[in-house]
Amino acid sequence: LSARVVVVGGGFGGATAAKYLKRNAPDLDVTLVEPNKVFYTCPFSNLVLAGMRTMDSISHNYNELRELGVRVVHTTAQDVDPVSRTVSLGDGSSIRYEKLLLSPGIDIRWNAIEGYDQAAAEQAPHAWKAGDQTRLLRRQIEAMDDGGVFVLTAPANPFRCPPGPYERASLVAHYLSQHKPRSKVLILDAKDNFSKQGLFMKGWKDVHGDRIEWVGLSGDGKVTRVDAGKREVETEFGTIHKASVLNVVPPQKAGFIADRAGVTNESGWVPVDPVTFESTQVKDIYVVGDATIAAPMPKSGFAANAQGKVAAAAIIAALEGQRPLEPSWANTCYSLINPEYGISVAAVYRIQEGLIHESSGGVSPSDANATFRKLEADYASGWYSAITQDTWG
Ligand code: FAD
Repeated sequence: LSARVVVVGGGFGGATAAKYLKRNAPDLDVTLVEPNKVFYTCPFSNLVLAGMRTMDSISHNYNELRELGVRVVHTTAQDVDPVSRTVSLGDGSSIRYEKLLLSPGIDIRWNAIEGYDQAAAEQAPHAWKAGDQTRLLRRQIEAMDDGGVFVLTAPANPFRCPPGPYERASLVAHYLSQHKPRSKVLILDAKDNFSKQGLFMKGWKDVHGDRIEWVGLSGDGKVTRVDAGKREVETEFGTIHKASVLNVVPPQKAGFIADRAGVTNESGWVPVDPVTFESTQVKDIYVVGDATIAAPMPKSGFAANAQGKVAAAAIIAALEGQRPLEPSWANTCYSLINPEYGISVAAVYRIQEGLIHESSGGVSPSDANATFRKLEADYASGWYSAITQDTWG
């Protein structure tokens, strides 16, 4: 099977797809376009913020993919012409494709919250893409005065990693309990419900006492304006909160290349055929990961990896003139309340009447004992090793 497949984005979805394309059809000509030589995962970046892990331990490279025969090009895809089936690259060159797979992740919706633009993110980091933003937020947390308030603002759905803001609040609280015990964490949320809410709330009470305060939408938690210089936020009904460290998790959309390729709809995300993850708008372009509309699957690294495999198989089937297999996906998201206390949500998804449905799933029990919670924390580490090995290793 010889054909040219171009993959844009070497994160969870794209690296997995490139690997499984090449592994399952070694004669395919597979090019992976990714600007970064080193990829830092968002999963476990909250542990870096809490001083539990190093940046090095969440870094991955593309050596194994190269060894497998994937051509890895470190540049940005600037544009896509679906008529001539060409991707133009940041270095001025362009490549043709028979099939294109995009896994560009998210872009921030700058100024969706008044005052929150790229310059503001240098003072009030989002750290919702891992790397320099993670380092910046870590430095700010370390420099924080004892007695200060870490303010985290969380967006409305949909967004990358539904439990992510609440795990971050938990692990920052853990760090503060050890190093700055008079400090607090305040979460200002643009919604009234969040992932694993019952388990988080119980975990916070059990482990962190009253260190973490959460204010939902109906309690005036929606932030509408940010003054990054003053580290202040203003809510919908005009309350001003002053932070010692301000972490804004802003509204998001699909990475810009999805727009350029014409695969996004008015929501800013990408509608796909759930069986193949081919765009419903542009033929021969497949999209996986956070950029897609795949609810009820969450925007998670686990889901992006699973979708990458499904799309790779669908591309190979299409090139061979065969019908795609009917897929099934799994997802598990672990979160840590502290290093000894893990919680999880898991689900299996299948196609029903042409749509993705959760066919089984649930969260870990709320009355579990300390041994169980410690085991879940251990499983989280096991999960991280396994998925990163499957994606880049
Ligand atoms: P990404 O992994 O972000 O990859 C996108 C890649 O595309 C990037 O490398 C980028 O450089 C590249 N790219 C973008 N545009 C272009 C372009 N034009 N040209 C070339 N390359 C481009 N998920 C879990 O499953 N478990 C967890 O425990 C977990 N924890 C998280 C904690 C936090 C704090 C956060 C923020 C997220 C967490 N996630 C977790 C979610 C996970 O990070 C994302 O769901 C996952 O990264 C999505 O994969 P993706 O391939 O869509 O995007």
